[in-house]
Order: sequence, then C-alpha cells, then structure tokens
Amino acid sequence: MANHFDALILGGSAAGLMCAIEAGKRGRRVAVLEHADRLGKKILISGGGRCNFTNLHCQPENFLSSNPHFAKSALARFTPADFIALVEKHRIPYHEKTLGQLFCDRSARDILAMLEEECQAAGVLIFLSTKIREVRRTTEFVVHAANAEFRAPALVVATGGLSIPKIGATSLGYDLARQFGLKIREPRPGLVPLTLEAKDRSRYCDLAGVSAEVIASCDGQQFREKMLITHRGLSGPAILQISSYWKKTEAIHIDLAPGSELTAIFHDPKMPRSLTTLRPELRKILSTRFADRWLEHHAPASWTNAALADFEQQAHAWSIIPAGTEGYEKAEVTAGGVDTDELSAKTMESRKVPGLFFIGEIVDVTGHLGGFNFQWAWASGAAAGRAL
Ligand SMILES: Cc1cc2nc3c(=O)[nH]c(=O)nc-3n(C[C@H](O)[C@H](O)[C@H](O)COP(=O)(O)OP(=O)(O)OC[C@H]3O[C@@H](n4cnc5c(N)ncnc54)[C@H](O)[C@@H]3O)c2cc1C
Repeated sequence: MANHFDALILGGSAAGLMCAIEAGKRGRRVAVLEHADRLGKKILISGGGRCNFTNLHCQPENFLSSNPHFAKSALARFTPADFIALVEKHRIPYHEKTLGQLFCDRSARDILAMLEEECQAAGVLIFLSTKIREVRRTTEFVVHAANAEFRAPALVVATGGLSIPKIGATSLGYDLARQFGLKIREPRPGLVPLTLEAKDRSRYCDLAGVSAEVIASCDGQQFREKMLITHRGLSGPAILQISSYWKKTEAIHIDLAPGSELTAIFHDPKMPRSLTTLRPELRKILSTRFADRWLEHHAPASWTNAALADFEQQAHAWSIIPAGTEGYEKAEVTAGGVDTDELSAKTMESRKVPGLFFIGEIVDVTGHLGGFNFQWAWASGAAAGRAL
C-alpha cells in the first residue's frame, strides 16, 4: 500500500524535524522517514550531551561555503531568537557558556523532546527503522523502503553528513544528489582533530592532555581558543575550528603566546641572557611541561638580538604540516556537500529538479564550532518547510 503525503522528509534529526514542524504547521501532510530506531541521535550526543543548540552571535561569517552569500537568506529568516523562543515556550532551562554559545542546563534530550512534541502538534507522521532502498521520480517522488512505499510531490533530503558513522551516518543524501544530477563539493571531515607526522608526534604527543590558549591560523582564517595536545596530534577548539579550513599538505600556524612578548625581559640590559632567565618567562604563558619541551627543540641558537627575535617569531608562528585528520569517526561535521549553486537560497529547492530539497549538513554550508551547525540545520529546515 502506498502512503501518500504532501512531502517526504528523509532523515529525522535537526534539519528534518524543523522542516517537518514548519510544513506541518502550514497544514501539509508530512512524513519523516528515519532509518534509525529513534529520532535525533546526533542531537542527543551533541555539546557533550547538553546540545549547544544555537549561538547568540550567529553571522554569515561563521559559515564556510563555496558561496559565502548562500546561507544569508535562510539565516536571516530563522534566527537564534526564533529558536530561543521555541526553547522558552517549552520552558527548557539553558545558559550561555561562552562566546554566545547556548547550552541546555539539563540535557540535549530536552531539545529532542521539544522537537518531537512540536512534530506531534503539527500532525507530522514519523516512520522509524525505515530502510530506504530506492528513490524514483515519476509524476512525483516514490520512496521504496524495505517495508513500505511512500509517495509525495516533494522530497526533502535531510540525511546529514558522513560524520560519526557508528550512530547512523550514511551517504544516501549524496547518492541521491548524484542520482538527480546535482553537483557535489567534495565532502571532507570538518571540526576534527588533526594528526601529526611521526617526527612531531614523537616530540610532543607524550604531552597528551596539555593545553594552551593559542591563535591557530590557516587559509586566511584565525581562531583564538584553546589547543589540546592528543596522543596522535592536536585538538581543542582552536584546532577543530581551523581544521575545517585546512587542506592536506598545507601548513597551519600556531601562535603559542598571543599578545605576549616572551623575550621582553631581555629589554633590561642587566638581565643575564640565558635559559635560566628565559624558562620562567615561557612557563608564565605555557604549562611547565610544554614550555620545557618547547625549549628542548626551539631554544635560541644564541643570545644575540637576532637569535632572540627568531625565537620569538617561531613561538608566534609555529608552522606545522599535519599528517591528516582523525577522519569521520571523530569529525563533528562534514564540510563540502551539495553545491549551493544547485539550490535556491530562499527555499533550498533544487533548481534542476522541482520538488527536491536539500537541507542541513548535507548542503555545502558548514558552521564554526559553537552552535552554528544547529542554527544552520534549524534555518535551512525552516526555509524548506515554509516552501512546501
Ligand atoms: C559529537 C558531535 C557533537 C556535536 N555538537 C554540536 C553542538 O553542540 N552544536 C552544534 O551546532 N552542532 C553540533 N554538532 C553538529 C550537529 O550535530 C550537526 O551539524 C547537525 O545535527 C546536522 O543536522 P542534520 O539534521 O542536517 O543531520 P543529522 O543530525 O546528522 O541527521 C541526519 C539524520 O538522517 C538519518 N539518516 C542518515 N542516513 C539515512 C538513511 N539512509 N535513511 C534514513 N535516514 C537516514 C540519520 O540517522 C539522522 O537521524 C555535533 C556533531 C557531533 C558529531
């Protein structure tokens, strides 16, 4: 028996559920088809279980895309304030952690429960454990699942990116984009720890757990946040942020002492120029272990002004060519995706295939760390939902 709807939404998480709510509220008969046995698994693990659901300072500049203008329209029409209004309507307690990042006080489950309640109120039908075998387009879209067939004049693809395959990421959305002739910008792991080459690893990775406030930069972008040394390389917010911009074989630059002059003490001509004087200066900025390790490998070649300037320069622009990333297993997002040239910025509908929409992380719009990826999921989901 075919289930006939006004719209079918593939993927029942952030973008898909928001789209379903908006369309349902407008009286559309909507079905969400989700292959997992429950909705929103990624919402549940997000923000360390507390879901950083938006960011107060959300701007188009907080997103990477081959077309930096594409996200503007959807972001302007569904803002952080719109999502906060929903959160407050459901009396979900939340707080600002840092830099405009809003988190649940209790648990990410609150956000998922809110979306589920809103879906129910909007009459959205949810089909869990629905394995999609094939999608065809006749006069409408026909979705063949293992146990049923669904039909609708509109199909919304909200199957997310490739990150965290163990909780159900699949390539279905990318496969569908290709099937319908839409261009894809090469997907790659984003917001992901970087791994170091053997030489750097042997120099630094036994310091796993040590962190420092740094400025990480690459490709004209820079982020001042914490960096963390791991067993295989570098992580922490500064590195996760810059990883989204990093391309293999390129160097990243790390300022280990932002705004500080490590050798300032030597402006005083009475100060003896020696490691005994320099070491405590470095330890004021970096942890003792990291400071000592840095001096092991980067001590000034001599004590001339030129050598000190060189030492200073190296500490402010540590140049590293990472070996790679920790991959989709550890990536918080997938950068790249369905080319924005293929979609209407207002509705997320394909320009080539009327009735076919792509929303959320599968689109070539990737947020910085800090609640921006959810804001994109809500905004792009709402944009499509209002157009169905
Ligand atoms: C560990 C972690 C923590 C994160 N924390 C945050 C955070 O705090 N703040 C933030 O803004 N962002 C965070 N993110 C990113 C954020 O979770 C995603 O960007 C966001 O969930 C994308 O929403 P989406 O609906 O597009 O995709 P997803 O949330 O990935 O949802 C896709 C849905 O489609 C389903 N699906 C996939 N394949 C199929 C198929 N073949 N058939 C049917 N259904 C399918 C999936 O099961 C899933 O339910 C985090 C990501 C991770 C991995």
